[in-house]
Amino acid sequence: MKDYIIRATAADGYIRAFAAQTTQMVESARQRHNLYPIASAALGRTMTVASMMAIDLKGKDDSLSIIIKGGGPIGSIVVVAAANGMVKGYVDNPFVQLPLNDKGKLDVARAVGTSGKLTVIKDYKLKEPYVGQVDIISGEIAEDMTYYFAVSEQQPSATALGVLVNPDLTIKSSGGFIIQPMPGAPDDLIDDIENRVSNIAPVSSQIAEGLTPEDMLNELIGEYGLKINDQLETYFRCDCNRERLESVLISLGRDELEDILENDGKAELICHYCNKQYIFDGKELDKLIDAMV
Ligand SMILES: [Zn+2]
Repeated sequence: MKDYIIRATAADGYIRAFAAQTTQMVESARQRHNLYPIASAALGRTMTVASMMAIDLKGKDDSLSIIIKGGGPIGSIVVVAAANGMVKGYVDNPFVQLPLNDKGKLDVARAVGTSGKLTVIKDYKLKEPYVGQVDIISGEIAEDMTYYFAVSEQQPSATALGVLVNPDLTIKSSGGFIIQPMPGAPDDLIDDIENRVSNIAPVSSQIAEGLTPEDMLNELIGEYGLKINDQLETYFRCDCNRERLESVLISLGRDELEDILENDGKAELICHYCNKQYIFDGKELDKLIDAMV
């Protein structure tokens, strides 16, 4: 089944909600980057929340990035999600391995670390980008995103993200939801939703059991007149190409390129986002150097 995101409202517009199923997306990322389970969970959670935030971008060419640098052994987590549903991302160390945490779960918090920053950049094609940054408070990513929404966007929210990994390292299930009360939402409504969110089964188990994003929101806020407003297919895809990598080479400058040509005879570049390798042979490098006056 294809992955998708839904955007919904409930309680006469006092609640906004997003939910996503991202199993295939995370499996694609795992295959591209040879992710070990903790990296699958950390990158998968970040890609899932980014995809839900991207459905809310106004312009069709807009995109957003989430960069998490928590000082842990996974290094940086970098994800870019576009308004059209396309998501790409990587972690510095896909092979990080740690013992399970005290709840018997993948120790994402320790892998990510808790001394650093979470940055969100919203890239609007027609105006200045928005940049928001908060301290990492938990390393589990959902809590950090909740903190980000509250501090940077002044938007209270409940965020749940989950990835389940099979024993053979493939992705069993992945998904998430974000529930946000709008200004003026009655306190008892907010209390009730907080209560429901804290009592619901983990998202990754719900999706593993075959529940859809619609089912998850129905269970949480169905009683409040849930209205699904939008549905968008989402998937892992990188938009890198030879021309883009060529401009990376050009940006190194003439001296550096001449060094590479002399020492290696060719240049091998790997796209961080999808691990695709691009080779520029001596002839091509010569041509690039010649074109640089
Ligand atoms: Zn790429």
